[in-house]
Amino acid sequence: MYERFRDKTCIVTGGARGIGAAIAYRLASEGCRTAILDIDEYAGRVREAEFVSMGLKTIFIKADVSIEEEVSRAIDKVYKTFGSIDVLINNAGIGFSGKPIELQSIDEWRRIIDVNLTGPYLCSKHVVRYMKSRGGVIINIASTRALQSEPHTEPYSASKGGLLALTHALAISLAPYKIRVLAVSPGWIDTSLWQIPRKEPKLSPLDHRQHPAGRVGRPEDIAALVAFLASDEAEWITGVNIVIDGGMTIKMIYID
Ligand code: NAD
Repeated sequence: MYERFRDKTCIVTGGARGIGAAIAYRLASEGCRTAILDIDEYAGRVREAEFVSMGLKTIFIKADVSIEEEVSRAIDKVYKTFGSIDVLINNAGIGFSGKPIELQSIDEWRRIIDVNLTGPYLCSKHVVRYMKSRGGVIINIASTRALQSEPHTEPYSASKGGLLALTHALAISLAPYKIRVLAVSPGWIDTSLWQIPRKEPKLSPLDHRQHPAGRVGRPEDIAALVAFLASDEAEWITGVNIVIDGGMTIKMIYID
């Protein structure tokens, strides 16, 4: 693999598992010094040990992205350890209960907004002081559920819709400092997160057939796109949302 990120540092929030772990691995494999920020200390330490054993420059820092003091402290630690922060991947996110709105608790709404929307806001706020002098890239992992819905996804869909608006606003504010800000909206990716509102925990052939591309997505599909967008090859791309979903969002449904 060639080293598009030699001498660069990235932070991947929620990098201990799922899509975030695949992104952290991909960027680290391409030469990036990689900091994994996650609330799950056990999974984070396992990931750190695994990457370090492969010779990848990786540290794990325990932090809850929704708590400003933890975010600020973690980002300062990354800078002190690696000497720069060039790429921020706002990936940490949580799913939803799938209950009808009258049964959703206000705590569910608040926690989803806190983690999925306030988290990226706080992480962006605290990396900007390290990026402003030399430029950088911020990539927000949104979701196709910001663009199309099924019943009972309100807190999650609203959090991701807000993340798209945050992406636009930040892209405009930070463009003068050569900081690019982008959103990536995955469709259905095979991680533990999508299973939460479902009764059937295993993927079925029908799940794969929902996708014009013939299969559910993998974390590595998202990592490959994120690596391109974070690299200098994408230097003229900012402020946009890129959907990556095996064609599911554009598929027309016929009812006859
Ligand atoms: P996952 O549950 O496998 O991993 C999420 C990671 O985020 C975990 O390691 C978890 O510990 C961490 N995390 C959760 N809350 C945190 C917090 N407060 N602070 C720090 N870390 C925290 O989920 P995933 O499927 O890999 O999802 C990653 C991102 O992709 C999320 O933002 C999710 O909304 C988005 N996404 C996922 C899918 C999908 O189908 N899996 C589709 C579209 C978008």
